Amino acid sequence: MTNMTNPEYPQPRLTATNAPLIEGWKRGELMLQHCADCHAIIFFPREICPQCWSTKLEWKRDAGRGKIVSFARVHKHVTPPFAAEAPTILAEIALNDGGTLMARVATRAPAAIESGAAVELVPMPEAAKFPLPTFRPVT
Ligand SMILES: [Zn+2]
Repeated sequence: MTNMTNPEYPQPRLTATNAPLIEGWKRGELMLQHCADCHAIIFFPREICPQCWSTKLEWKRDAGRGKIVSFARVHKHVTPPFAAEAPTILAEIALNDGGTLMARVATRAPAAIESGAAVELVPMPEAAKFPLPTFRPVT
């Protein structure tokens, strides 16, 4: 049994603001901030709501399913191990339960990715090798 953690990936810097997202992903969960005042769903983690400037932000678990709005197929990377994994997909994903985020879509067929494609979170234990929430196509 190999260690699923890939030490070569750049690791996110843990802060008080992003800790629930980073720690949640270590459990394979997508945690997102919700504004208690205007109900905006917020990504990336912040200290104030970007819609209404409220500081009443709550963390909630998202089901982790959505559709690709748009994406970039990245052919050249400067950072290993991404360079060895190119082309990779970086996508804007509209979540089924509201909110959007930017995330990697892990796939063995990057040429087949299209806008509108359904995606879901990579499940554990594979999820553990990615330092940030990562999706895969729904097959
Ligand atoms: Zn708000």
